[in-house]
Amino acid sequence: MTANTALNATPVPAAIGPVILLGAPGAGKGTQAKLVAARYGIPQISTGDILRDNVARGTELGKKADSVMKSGALVADDLVQPMVADRLGRLDCDHGFILDGFPRTVGQAEWLDKYLASRSFGGRVRRPVVINFDVGYNQLLQRLTGRRSCPVDGKIYNIYSQPPQKEGMCDSCGSPLVQRKDDREEVISERLKEYGRQTLPLVDYYRRQGSLHEVNGELSVEQVTRQTLDVIEGPAGER
Ligand code: AMP
Repeated sequence: MTANTALNATPVPAAIGPVILLGAPGAGKGTQAKLVAARYGIPQISTGDILRDNVARGTELGKKADSVMKSGALVADDLVQPMVADRLGRLDCDHGFILDGFPRTVGQAEWLDKYLASRSFGGRVRRPVVINFDVGYNQLLQRLTGRRSCPVDGKIYNIYSQPPQKEGMCDSCGSPLVQRKDDREEVISERLKEYGRQTLPLVDYYRRQGSLHEVNGELSVEQVTRQTLDVIEGPAGER
């Protein structure tokens, strides 16, 4: 993969508000969240990653979530919300954080609004900057079926559009790349339906709040990064 020059375009601001990335599975939330988190030195909080880690470790939460995730459905709000509260309660979130894959239901968004209003981050109450990556259905399908990731450093590739230099191997550490269990075609269509039913309404939810920013997620990774940073560091982020 080539270097993403959008990341060294401008100096890094001292603190940024909570950033929420919205978009369908495969819209690029994880890829962009990693880049943005690294630029600002803030944590990327991916509920999908935390749940997969719980499944891999065989925790109680992981046991409950495993079959739901394999089916492409959403894990219940009352399991996910305490998990997020626990993560946001850590000190490293005080100077900002980026949420990728949460909230995913209107119930989760309402819960998050209350949570953010109830605590201050680094002494300031901050409203979230919400960025929606819009990507068409066919493009999503290609991205999800082609997605491979490195189990060691989490780098994400796509066999069609962002292949590793050596087939099947991570560019950075050489580990064999893996395909997520839920990126198989039979599960993908269920995940996209679930997105339409449960998560798409969040676009209107945040639009009504005046926090929504739209980015065309079909542009190149670098262009999407640039537009995402413009939103975060522009007037929306200066609060
Ligand atoms: P992701 O890695 O974001 O695509 O998430 C993978 C799977 O984890 C989803 O299909 C859901 O089953 C589950 N999941 C992730 N985030 C959430 C969430 N905020 N609420 C409910 N389920 C979630």
